[in-house]
Amino acid sequence: MDDKILVTQSSMPPFEEYVEMIKPLWESHWLTNMGDYHKRLEDELRTYLKVPEISLTVNGHMALELALQSLNLPKGGEVITTPFTFISTTHAIIRNGLVPVFCDVKEDYTIDESKIEELITEHTVAIVPVHVYGNICNVEEIEQIAYKYDLKVIYDAAHAFGETYQGKGVGSFGDLSTFSFHATKVFHTIEGGCVCAKTREQYEKLYNLKNFGIRNEELIVSVGANAKMNEFQAAMGLCNLKYLQQNIEARKRVVERYCENFSGETKLRLNQYQKGVEPNYAYMPVLFETAELRDKVYTGLRQKNIFSRKYFYPITADAACFRNKYKKNDLEQARDYSNRILVLPLYASLRIEQVDMISKAVLEIQKEG
Ligand SMILES: *Cc1c(COP(=O)(O)O)cnc(C)c1O
Repeated sequence: MDDKILVTQSSMPPFEEYVEMIKPLWESHWLTNMGDYHKRLEDELRTYLKVPEISLTVNGHMALELALQSLNLPKGGEVITTPFTFISTTHAIIRNGLVPVFCDVKEDYTIDESKIEELITEHTVAIVPVHVYGNICNVEEIEQIAYKYDLKVIYDAAHAFGETYQGKGVGSFGDLSTFSFHATKVFHTIEGGCVCAKTREQYEKLYNLKNFGIRNEELIVSVGANAKMNEFQAAMGLCNLKYLQQNIEARKRVVERYCENFSGETKLRLNQYQKGVEPNYAYMPVLFETAELRDKVYTGLRQKNIFSRKYFYPITADAACFRNKYKKNDLEQARDYSNRILVLPLYASLRIEQVDMISKAVLEIQKEG
């Protein structure tokens, strides 16, 4: 047995349940191309996520790329986005021939909506915010700005699966929202993702983009990629969905234990859960007082076989491939958080003794520092 504790551990449905689920595929030989499971998962997720339309994709990144592509934004257009995210968000913008304009973040790690307007130019076409760690962006304010300047809004909701804000599914905000169902996420289909849309027309557009524009054997209506979810992925999703509530409950207990263990510690800042948001307990970010302290804790934990992660370090604007390529806006806050943040291990099967052991280690290393 490996006694390493990683930042996350993929949730697995009972083995027999998955096997039962995939057995019919040996009879039907229908492995992909919008099979029964694909359809069932789209139906179940539409209900679970409280959104009008869902298009499943092969992964979360392609969901983002296709979402952006489906809006036909003019090439070279500027997209205001956050650098405090997984690199996928920024890559999706650039791979669509668009130009990222980075906006700083605020205390809850999401885009600082009060700084968006000053970045808008005649070339701005869209805003791509991210609900970081499941913290929901200021969707009201962003909607108003988008309306005022006639901009599209695409939310990267990869961290916010299943959350609601004031009773509404988070995937229902903006023109489109995307989720990732990667193995490391709260809900997964091994690899996978989806775009949440508002209208049937958007759904059809996404369908064409993920399936070569093929409508039937002889009719190809548009140019498209191949980004379909297959039946094995969809089956994994249907199995996992049954245990999701249970998993989130278990994650909640872990988070609450961490918070208890760290209560009264003035030198580290915990995530503040937002009013009106039903959280999914996807991540356990801790903000240290200094970058040195964060690095010391990261290294110290590794020596104890505990693998925390610096999500997100560096900020995407500072990625080696983008150096000096894009406008240098003031990203002081994002860079500062990025230097001081650490995401601690969190998953449904993490035991309370392990949480206590990790918390103790964090506090000890911090005190030595
Ligand atoms: C995971 C993730 C993605 C990409 O999803 P994949 O399914 O891994 O392609 C995009 N954005 C954010 C914020 C993510 O966390």
